[in-house]
Amino acid sequence: MTIRKLQPQRIFNGQQLLEAGTVLLVDNTGTILDLVPANQAGDNIEILNGWITPGFINCHCHLELSYMLGVIPEKTGLISFVKQVMQNREIAEEKQQQAIQIADQQLWNQGVQAVGDICNQTATLSTKLSSPITYHSFIELTGWHPSVAESRYQTALKCEKAFATHSLRHSLSPHAPYSVSTKLWQKIRPHFSQQPVTLHTQESADEQLLFENGTGNWPLFYESLGIGHSEFEPTGKSSLQSVLPFMKEAATVLLVHDTFTQAADMQWAHSYHPGICWCICIRANQYIENALPPIAELRSIGARIVVGTDSLASNYSLSILQELYSIQQHFPQVPTPELLTWATYNGAEALQMNKSLGSLQPGKRPGILLLNNLSMEGQLLQSTEVQRLW
Ligand SMILES: [Zn+2]
Repeated sequence: MTIRKLQPQRIFNGQQLLEAGTVLLVDNTGTILDLVPANQAGDNIEILNGWITPGFINCHCHLELSYMLGVIPEKTGLISFVKQVMQNREIAEEKQQQAIQIADQQLWNQGVQAVGDICNQTATLSTKLSSPITYHSFIELTGWHPSVAESRYQTALKCEKAFATHSLRHSLSPHAPYSVSTKLWQKIRPHFSQQPVTLHTQESADEQLLFENGTGNWPLFYESLGIGHSEFEPTGKSSLQSVLPFMKEAATVLLVHDTFTQAADMQWAHSYHPGICWCICIRANQYIENALPPIAELRSIGARIVVGTDSLASNYSLSILQELYSIQQHFPQVPTPELLTWATYNGAEALQMNKSLGSLQPGKRPGILLLNNLSMEGQLLQSTEVQRLW
């Protein structure tokens, strides 16, 4: 067995920066053997420039939309964005497959070890089967009118069967509070038990109005599509408080975007469900709503934060490093080790992959990355690069 002994400037183990001078021992499969001080590591130590970190976890992506790169204009708001995604759903299969494969390769080259990927169909299946990336496929359900609940449920079960046949990790997940009827929630709820489940949450201010009193632009959106909404009864509560109880039995709940989430909702959700994870997709938020996620508020309650890219329909790349750089540009008070915790350890926990990924612990094979060109103070720079060692 060949052992490599790596001594970078600093090692980030998934939760903290280790003391300078620590050496990482790795075997030729990328399995972590040990972390020891340099004076106990013997000879043949490789000195590296930069920080070592475990592979990144991208908690929110839609690989099947990769062909939409550059198609939808920026900053037109969520409702306009959703309309345009629906209009651009028809695509030649070959073109879609090609875009999925390229995106998968880019994710890997940019240091991503695992992805929480939203699926409305089985288009990503063949790429996932041959990818070195570990995927958790969230098979997504939408259906605002109760009359479509049964057919949408059956379609999702078929999709689920395809992923299960190939032993690919997966779970059923609702799309968003504004697009799932109570009847559909009731059908999918039994599938959530002990699973990671995800939900697009409070991505527009209109979502709150819909649940509070049935106003805002979502009813108009459904009318424009000829979809009735008269059976929906506003709850008088926030959208999050209205739907999170349906996911009570889930192991983890990845709340994605949260751009318009209020502090009271954060505190409530934090104490209501021990598996809550807040998934930040800052570049998509800017692309779609020209808004920023409530990172300061989430940090102030000690929330578990994870990071996603959303799809290439609302982003220019699927690079987690670019997401972290962008977060630090807008929130310079967040230190780099904390950002890296969101993108490694916390992400692995959210997707229930922490037994093998997310941290540099002996026995794990989490992927090993080298971050180059950080500032003297350890801040991310535009020129910071990620290089995959394993
Ligand atoms: Zn999304």
